[in-house]
Amino acid sequence: MTRPTRALIDLEALRANYRLARRIHGGRAVAVIKANAYGHGALACARALAEDADAFAVAFLDEARELREGGVRNPILLLEGVFSGAELELASELGLWLVVHHDEQIRMVEQARLLPRSLTAWLKIESGMHRAGFDSADAARAYRRLDATGKVRAITLMTHFARAEELRSSMTTEQIERFDMETRGLPGERSLCNSAGLLNWPQARRDWARPGIMLYGIAPDDSVLTGLQPVMTFRSCICAVRTVQPGDAIGYGATFVADKPMRIGLVCAGYADGYPQTAPSGTPVAVDGQRTSLVGRVSMDLLMVDITDLPSARIGSEVELWGRHVHVSEVAKASGRIGYELVCNVKRAPFEYVDVPASRVSCMRVESATA
Ligand SMILES: *Cc1c(COP(=O)(O)O)cnc(C)c1O
Repeated sequence: MTRPTRALIDLEALRANYRLARRIHGGRAVAVIKANAYGHGALACARALAEDADAFAVAFLDEARELREGGVRNPILLLEGVFSGAELELASELGLWLVVHHDEQIRMVEQARLLPRSLTAWLKIESGMHRAGFDSADAARAYRRLDATGKVRAITLMTHFARAEELRSSMTTEQIERFDMETRGLPGERSLCNSAGLLNWPQARRDWARPGIMLYGIAPDDSVLTGLQPVMTFRSCICAVRTVQPGDAIGYGATFVADKPMRIGLVCAGYADGYPQTAPSGTPVAVDGQRTSLVGRVSMDLLMVDITDLPSARIGSEVELWGRHVHVSEVAKASGRIGYELVCNVKRAPFEYVDVPASRVSCMRVESATA
């Protein structure tokens, strides 16, 4: 038997989350699958969503090329745009849509050998986050300069929110107002919402949404939202059991000391597989579907769990590090991290793509990939 650590990806849950996002927002939705679909596997996720998705978004050209080479034909938006004139011409050959967020990128469009009206561009307007995009006072000038190249077929106007997961902050309303004011009178479709914008700010819903994290069943603020289904189950098994006595210390740094006789399950997963090293004793895990907790420090290949109160737990028992019984957001919060980061970091463990709920897949016999 091989080491039983797996990331199971539930593609039906991904589709359900995408449909829910689009239904909440109305209009069309770009499925954001940058960074290898937030660690879930970009090509498999794109194929699973290909029939539904109005468009995909990735960060940069190489991420899009992988999808095109894998046969994905949907529109693909490059959220960072291009980095050179050569990339611009390649992007155009691949039929990619481009975010344009600074003047140097407009200059690349001016100078590139491109057919008239062949590009689809998303002009990114800065509205308060001060990260990427044209200053809002510059929006109309950038629009006219891009339009004057004659190479652009359509310009969609977009902005990005800094604090849309914070319901008490007035910043999102201010960003919406600034964007609307500075783009008033400019033709073209509009796109404002990431997942948090889509979920929390109905007044920001326009032609296109750009949901990312919610597609994977994770709330932008790591609250646990009903309605979204977790897509990734990160799972392993108990590979050894020991009993410890009061006073025995467990793991590196002896950070956990038993105060009673305890049964401890050894789990073959650690931070090199992407489980957060900062997860403290007490972080929830599920053994055979029953919640219990991590004990001691997470090491590179292994971690330990308390099975004192789970008498039926034994070698081979299934351990869910996150998934349906323990939400990844709970682990993120306990570890001082964010859900986005945890799923992005899963590696080393093989990925299995399933179209049935992951909880029905048994520990030792993993169903084969469908994607
Ligand atoms: C990553 C990204 C998104 C998706 O954000 P989520 O918070 O994951 O929904 C949307 N728009 C832009 C510009 C992005 O970079």
